[in-house]
Amino acid sequence: MTASMTGLVNYAKDPYSVELREVPVPDIGEEDVLLAVQAVGVCGTDVHVYTGTQQGRLKYPVILGHEFSGVIAKTGSHVRAFKDGDRVTSETAAGLPPDSALLRRGLYNLEPNRVGFGFGVNGAMAQFVRVPERCLHHLPASLSFEKAALTEPCCVAYNAVCGNSHIRPGDSVAVIGPGPIGLLCTIMAKLSGAGHLLVIGVPADAERLEVARQIGAQTTLGAHNEDISDWVSNFGDGYGFDLVIDAAGVSATLKLALDIVRPAGQITKVGWGPQPFNASLDQLVKKAVTLQGSFSHNWPIWESVISLLGSGRIDVDPILSRVVPLSDWRGVFDDMHSGKIVKGVLKPS
Ligand SMILES: [Zn+2]
Repeated sequence: MTASMTGLVNYAKDPYSVELREVPVPDIGEEDVLLAVQAVGVCGTDVHVYTGTQQGRLKYPVILGHEFSGVIAKTGSHVRAFKDGDRVTSETAAGLPPDSALLRRGLYNLEPNRVGFGFGVNGAMAQFVRVPERCLHHLPASLSFEKAALTEPCCVAYNAVCGNSHIRPGDSVAVIGPGPIGLLCTIMAKLSGAGHLLVIGVPADAERLEVARQIGAQTTLGAHNEDISDWVSNFGDGYGFDLVIDAAGVSATLKLALDIVRPAGQITKVGWGPQPFNASLDQLVKKAVTLQGSFSHNWPIWESVISLLGSGRIDVDPILSRVVPLSDWRGVFDDMHSGKIVKGVLKPS
């Protein structure tokens, strides 16, 4: 008889096709570990999956959860660098083609055929998850499982701000979209020496903009429908922001980014949106702006972020709004969807 566990399963494409189910504890291969999940973060994409608005290839049924930490319960016979009882977190690329040219270059985050936890293979919103050794990173004793579950979104923000953007100390930085990624990008910009930090949202973001202020934004706009372009034209010398991070992803926010970026400045787009852009790119030409995309993360980014989380130089406490048992998942999904909370973490065990 196979042992069973409770997992949060996405079973169909239709909206709200997510429920707790009894599922078998996974088997592992020679190069895998069985991880006893201690904490798993709820991502914006999990909420999109829940509401049926997530684009891209998804497997059904699949256990959700790609931001997680835990204790190794069992190791495959070829696992060398990890042992039972180790405290770890895991990257998200659960499956990669072994002959991928991008993998050889360390750019496996950009491999189009990679398979992710919670989307293409079973994720961590369950008591156990099967993880290849290649994905694992050790946790310092100073880092709690709950905070370690935020390593993944921190790595997304680190890559966008510290990898794919160029901030010189004192540069002005605007972040559009105060969701978890936008707020973590704000933390990374501050860490990188940003000067004036502006975070932009919409009226539904009022509480998240309050968090933005707690983590170092000097200005927040949008809670009262302020005219953003008008405010920026009266800020400093009036030329705009050195760097604009688009962490929202809709056409209107890229258009806003083009309006408020400084000539010769940079826009980094980390937010997704399926709709056509539907606006002129003339500002990109006229201002000679660099438009940079940023997606996911790789091994050295994880090591840097774990070190920063472990030392406390990245403090995710203001972002980590709620920690609840896995059985209380629905309230977290609903409150993240409405913008009432920034980020929730579920505890399966
Ligand atoms: Zn995520």
